[in-house]
Amino acid sequence: LVEIMGVRKSYGDLDVLKGIDLEVQEGQVVCLIGPSGGGKSTLLRCVNHLERVDQGAIKVAGEVVGYRWQNNSLHEMRSSQVCKQRAKIGMVFQQFNLFAHKTVLQNVTMGPIKLLGLSKDEAIERARTLLDHVGLLDKQSAYPSQLSGGQSQRVAIARALAMEPRLMLFDEPTSALDPELVGDVLSVMRDLVSQGMTMLVVTHEMGFARDAADSVAFMAGGEIVEHGTPEQVLGNPQRERTRSFLSRVS
Ligand code: ATP
Ligand code: MG
Repeated sequence: LVEIMGVRKSYGDLDVLKGIDLEVQEGQVVCLIGPSGGGKSTLLRCVNHLERVDQGAIKVAGEVVGYRWQNNSLHEMRSSQVCKQRAKIGMVFQQFNLFAHKTVLQNVTMGPIKLLGLSKDEAIERARTLLDHVGLLDKQSAYPSQLSGGQSQRVAIARALAMEPRLMLFDEPTSALDPELVGDVLSVMRDLVSQGMTMLVVTHEMGFARDAADSVAFMAGGEIVEHGTPEQVLGNPQRERTRSFLSRVS
């Protein structure tokens, strides 16, 4: 479902992505781990074209993200077309990015009404079902400032799911949370895994990576240093860089 092919990206002199190849098959969960500054967030942001790639390409569901072919070369898409592609890709950030002046229910219904053309009633029904799944139906009328971090993050997940995405991207969804709230968010993510959602997850939660991921990619210095099953990468890492990282986090 996701094909990342030879992706390079620089900010000025800084090469942040140095030729990344990575695939996520339909229904698979791939966890990206690695040290700060390694390029994990940048890669994720390239997948939904929040950042543009300098070289290489990313395909999601068979389409090159952010670019289209014309006269045998790739041209950047108009923003309306990018929006259409993004509608298929849910993203959850470390900071929850909820709309502060909207209720929980409005946060979840907005996208489907505006971008998918659902009626208000349809959107509300979908939102209530999702809020129920993440255990927050009783908070539907609350404002984001009235929620805990863990609740906010579960609303953010429900909001992304309301768009019925083909793919979910998570960028350290639990790292801003108090430790006692992490479990609730991870359990929502595990539910998604068991429903067969395709997911690309940047995380420092090694327990989640170990038992929820189909594969784990260790990224450092703009490269994928090692990629394999959780048993291989976490249990029996081949590269010194991976080993030293793992000894520091686990
Ligand atoms: P962390 O674990 O801390 O979130 P990361 O692996 O997600 O790190 P990135 O956020 O992708 O790393 O950053 C990779 C490198 O790119 C860093 O050196 C960062 O300073 C740099 N960088 C990221 N975004 C920009 C930007 N918009 N302009 C300039 N440099 C940037
Ligand atoms: Mg990051």
